[in-house]
Amino acid sequence: MTSPSTSISDVVRLLSASKLAVAFTGAGISTESGVPDFRSPGGVWSRYQPVYYHDFLASEAARRQYWRMKKEGYRELKDAKPNNGHHALAALEAAGKIVAVITQNIDGLHQDAGSRRVLELHGTSRYCICLQCSARYEGDLIYQRLEAGIEIPLCDQCGGLIKSATISFGQALPVDVLTEAFDLSMHTDLMLAIGSSLAVEPAASLPLQAKQNGAHLVIINRTETPLDGLADVVIREPIGESLAKVARELGHEIR
Ligand code: ZN
Repeated sequence: MTSPSTSISDVVRLLSASKLAVAFTGAGISTESGVPDFRSPGGVWSRYQPVYYHDFLASEAARRQYWRMKKEGYRELKDAKPNNGHHALAALEAAGKIVAVITQNIDGLHQDAGSRRVLELHGTSRYCICLQCSARYEGDLIYQRLEAGIEIPLCDQCGGLIKSATISFGQALPVDVLTEAFDLSMHTDLMLAIGSSLAVEPAASLPLQAKQNGAHLVIINRTETPLDGLADVVIREPIGESLAKVARELGHEIR
């Protein structure tokens, strides 16, 4: 097997030839917007023990800790703006060069950049939901309450437990989103895996499935991934800059 290309022009060539390209993104695309990777040293998970879904339901202490973490996470997210990477993917979608973005991120920055078909595998921090009556609340509203000193917000309608619409440990990934993501991976002819270490499931499976079904695979990530050996192109340059270059060469100026 030949080693993968490291050239942006090969990404451009593959995208031009592709009929059904899909982007798959992880934390790395948002770190360039100042959103810390919660898995990395200094991230929220290195400072707090994550709260499992079961414990959230069962224990008031766990809920208090959950919301303390969320409050901190929200402070890190609230001023984040999409960067060139997000903008480039939105431009490529608008131009019909990619059909969807599958993301592990919960920050909503793809939508802020204008991406329309965004599959959020781990949910979103943009709203909260009542586990009892399914009432939806803007994330901002709930976080204002946290900042005002409420430790465990409850539903205005029914008094039930509210939880962020992000997926917790021990909580199933949303089946409809997951099904659509695997369906896209099965049928895509080009997957761009961007800013993900491709180490956690289902992150690792989606590009692998694409590759096994004959798609080309491009990996853009700062560090090595376990799938680099399978990829057609591996780019280890900054993501925003790389994607902006790709978009520009396809005729879409970013900024
Ligand atoms: Zn409710």
